Amino acid sequence: MLVLVINSGSSSLKYQVRNVEKGSVLTEGLIEEIGMGNGGGGDGEIEGPRDHAEALEQVDAAIHHVLGDRKLDAVGHRVVHGGERFAEPVLVNNEITRAIERLNPLAPLHNPANVLGIRAIARKWPELPQVAVFDTAFHRTLPEHAWRYALPDSLYTNHGIRRYGFHGTSHEYVAQRAAALLGVPDEEFDGVIAHLGNGASVTAIRGGKSVDTSMGFTPLEGLVMGTRSGDVDPSILVFLARAGWSTEDIDSMLNRESGLRALAGNNDMRSVVEAAESGDAKAAMALAVASYRLAKYIGGYHVAVGGAKALVFTAGIGENSHQFRALVGERLGALGIELDAGLNRERSKEPRVISTGGSDIPVLVVPTDEERAIAEATAAVVERSWVAP
Ligand code: ADP
Repeated sequence: MLVLVINSGSSSLKYQVRNVEKGSVLTEGLIEEIGMGNGGGGDGEIEGPRDHAEALEQVDAAIHHVLGDRKLDAVGHRVVHGGERFAEPVLVNNEITRAIERLNPLAPLHNPANVLGIRAIARKWPELPQVAVFDTAFHRTLPEHAWRYALPDSLYTNHGIRRYGFHGTSHEYVAQRAAALLGVPDEEFDGVIAHLGNGASVTAIRGGKSVDTSMGFTPLEGLVMGTRSGDVDPSILVFLARAGWSTEDIDSMLNRESGLRALAGNNDMRSVVEAAESGDAKAAMALAVASYRLAKYIGGYHVAVGGAKALVFTAGIGENSHQFRALVGERLGALGIELDAGLNRERSKEPRVISTGGSDIPVLVVPTDEERAIAEATAAVVERSWVAP
């Protein structure tokens, strides 16, 4: 089955064409500056379409070049917010598209773009089945004591203010690969997954299901990230508002000017690690703040799981930064966790164990692949429920 995986942002569209059975990528690309009104392109990236429909024409041309006579079988969309309704991937129809659209207030930067992508494809390829795969879906199993904020109930009932969690497609995929590596069935996997990319979240998994996760109402809660603060005292925002900051200023400060960028002057983990290694005290403190926050979450989630049996690192930092993994590992001695310095430093694209034989629980590095997970989920939904018109 050939699946086109689409990740639409407000001004960008990432795509990949995958052969699901072979697990291979036939072609991929990124279209940027959608609706920004500048035609130029550069660096092999196609740029400057007027809207998502025009961007799709460019995708069509690019994939036609590679596929020739072969036809796509389905389209899988990464949809950021599935609210309380969507607990698994679904076949898209008009009613589903409207339901995703109704969630726009919960993800104002993301869901509108997902809807534009879905509608543009429905117009261009009405015969192609489309599947929506939600970032929040895997966390629909959170128990109420984990998803509820201690806030007046009207905030939940009137505005949907609760914890949703994100990165679910990655957490689920990585949990299943970790379970396979450890030789336990998916539904018996008890562990903590740390997805550490530009955005970062930790998930507690019990019996293969998400029971807690560090991102909440939005992807801002939780860990120290590239440019996001993660947890802060909410009164800081009230203090700033009283001091005359606008909501836009506060939003931008928390989401774009905080995290590693605020602490170290750089949001890229590689640069922060290099700076720390060459004696930059601010960079070293940034790593200390970020690794301490993560270690506290791992300790807490050991409790949420009821005794985690594995700790797993994934995504850009989790897969590649042995320095950051080592800093986190050093703080986890109380859980009986011990990294093997040699295994931790090894470079590999394969799932692997990086803890010592004496560590109470194994520590793993498992590469994530959200596009692959979306393509596989799409194929499964189509095989189960698609009836050609
Ligand atoms: P996104 O959330 O955008 O998908 P990624 O998962 O690609 O992010 O992770 C990006 C982060 O991974 C950046 O902070 C980057 O510095 C870090 N990273 C990537 N490769 C390495 C590496 N070799 N060593 C350390 N950090 C790395």
